This record gives sequence, structure tokens and C-alpha cells, in this order.
Amino acid sequence: MSQTITSRCEAIGLRMTGQRRIIAAVLEESEDHPDVEELYNRASARDSAISLATVYRTVKLFEESGILDKLEFGDGRARYEDAERDHHDHLIDMNTGQVIEFCDPEIEALQEKIAAKLGYTLKGHRLELYGVPIKKR
Ligand SMILES: [Zn+2]
Repeated sequence: MSQTITSRCEAIGLRMTGQRRIIAAVLEESEDHPDVEELYNRASARDSAISLATVYRTVKLFEESGILDKLEFGDGRARYEDAERDHHDHLIDMNTGQVIEFCDPEIEALQEKIAAKLGYTLKGHRLELYGVPIKKR
């Protein structure tokens, strides 16, 4: 991990209030892909004065500042993760909504090959797989 979310916010000049610091700390500690409601639950457990609206606005600010990545997994709920997390792709279990992270060197290489064939240097990509567990006999 390079820098904390809080230090990156400070580095780009965001005013870090106490509540924003708590929300930043919650995000730093989250290993999953929480939506705003879930972040609100975690943040308000530390400071009951934090409102859902504050979490909403803060997350939006962090996203617009490039601190967070917004993820959409097809259920209409936006989820967030640290934009500086090591690159990975997502597989979404359509039965449970569970999100599995993976990184496959073959997929990475193939995407670069496709981009090059089209005359581009690949600078990033986003891949989401949707599936249901294979039934075992
Ligand atoms: Zn992820």
C-alpha cells in the first residue's frame, strides 16, 4: 500500500474534517466493496453523529478526486474501493452477490495484445464476470 487515503486527500488539498477522517479510515480498513449504506453503518459505529448524507457526499468527493473507484455490479448499488488497490478484476456471484477478486496474467496479456492490434497502448481496463456456482454432482 503506497499512501493512506487520508494522506492522499491531504496531498490534493481536501479539507479533512473529523468526520471525513473517520470515513477515510473506514475505507482504508475495508477489504471488500462496500456501498454507501454499508460505509455509513461502519462509520456511524465510530461516530454516531455521522449522517448518511455526509457519507454520501464524502464518498462522491473522494470519487471525483480520484481517491476511490466506483464499481457497478448490475444491481443498481454503487460500490467503492480504494483506487490505489493493486489491479484486479471482479467475478460476481449472481446468486449471493458475493464479489470475488482475481487477476489473470493471460487476460492481462490478451487485453494488451488486442489494444496493440487496434493501434493503442493499454492504460487500463475494467472487467466484470457474472456467474453462478457450478453444481457439483
Ligand atoms: Zn476489488
